[in-house]
Formats: sequence, C-alpha cells, structure tokens
Amino acid sequence: MEQYPKSLMEFESQFKSEGDCIDYLVQMRWPQGFVCPVCESRKSWRTDRRLFHCAACGHQVSITAGTVFQGTRKPLQMWFRAMWWVTSQKNGASAKGLQQGLGLGSYQTAWVWLHKLRRAMVRPGRDQLSGLVEVDETYVGGPENRPGRGAETKALVVIAVERRGRALGRTRMAVVGEPTRDELCGFVESCVAPGSTVRTDGWQSYRTLKNRGYTHERVLQQRSSEDPCELLPGVHRC
Ligand SMILES: [Zn+2]
Repeated sequence: MEQYPKSLMEFESQFKSEGDCIDYLVQMRWPQGFVCPVCESRKSWRTDRRLFHCAACGHQVSITAGTVFQGTRKPLQMWFRAMWWVTSQKNGASAKGLQQGLGLGSYQTAWVWLHKLRRAMVRPGRDQLSGLVEVDETYVGGPENRPGRGAETKALVVIAVERRGRALGRTRMAVVGEPTRDELCGFVESCVAPGSTVRTDGWQSYRTLKNRGYTHERVLQQRSSEDPCELLPGVHRC
C-alpha cells in the first residue's frame, strides 16, 4: 500500500476520523478520481460518504465493495486499527489479543475480523478462482460404517471448483471446523474473487453470499453419498 503509515504516531494522525479512512480507500481504488465500472463515466455524486452514484448511468458503487470491509456496520476506523494491530504483532496475532487490543465486545467478532484480515493479507486476488465456481462440502476420514460415530472423528472439508462449460478448472480445498455461515462463506471469500457466480447446495450457511459480492446459485441436489467425488459431478474418482 502506498502512503501507508510507518509508525503508530503516523497511523494515528493519518486516520483521525472515519472520513480519513474513506478518503484513503477512494484514493486506493481511483487514484485519478472516480471511474464508473459500468459505463466508464468520470462524473459522480455521493449519496453518502461511502456510496458513489454514477451521474451518467445511475450505477452505484460502494467504496467498500469487493474489499474486506464490505457489508461491515462497524466504523472503518476500527477496521483500520485492527489492520494496524494485526500487522504489528511480531509473534503472531490472536483473536483474544485483537479483542483486548481494540476493546471489541465479543470474542466472536474478533475471531471473524482476524480471519478476514489474514485472508486479505496472505491471499492476493490474483490466485482466486473466478467465473462460475461450484462449492460443496463433505466429511472425510475416520472409521466408516459405524452409525452415530462418524461426525466427531471426521473432518469437514469444503471444496471449490471452477466450472468452464463441461470442463473443470482450478480447485481449492480447506478443512473447516463447523459448517457455520462464517466458516463456509469465509472459505468462499478466501478463494473466490468477488463478482463470481457461486453455485452451492441448499445449505442455509451460504445464504449471505449474495451480500458478500457474489451471485449465488442454489442447486438442490439429492445426496447419495459422502464421497466428495459424488458431490461434484464430473470430478474423476480419486
Ligand atoms: Zn456509469
């Protein structure tokens, strides 16, 4: 990042207010001023500080769209402080530490923020999947065929696969703790570029994808097996 402060004092003086943080994001996104992503017009007005309205075609662009701050209700100043805090911990940042360092009310919030920031910092957008991406999950490992004992010994794995017509493109996988909204949508955010179409099964946990910058397609499918290869038709057997 250009013009990013080098010391805590510089940081405090550069980001004194919410407006300072917004101005910084605007500058990062449009160094030469607003450009409409739909019609390329350069004329706009702001309906509020975070929202640009294209004067030519009426398209609205939120300054946080497609960023780690998308959809947040917390002040950007707080997010900026969290970024500063996370990057300045020499021995690694923990959710508990972030909660205390920022005075966040809930550990859960601190955990989600830490994971979002980590993903934003380690994963440049260029290696994210894009286009049409199918996401599914399955349990892997542990003893088979023992009724009632499977779940606690098995790991839940989420898989994302690019679809290119009938062919498959790149894939990403991750082990997640629980099939919660934060875990599953967090996985998608970590490996699928905003603006992509994400096709999932009917799980409620994926419902917020459309608020996170994705087009969400839900496919209700009959689950015949826990085999990941069965869940992604077209993937050859492992
Ligand atoms: Zn426009």
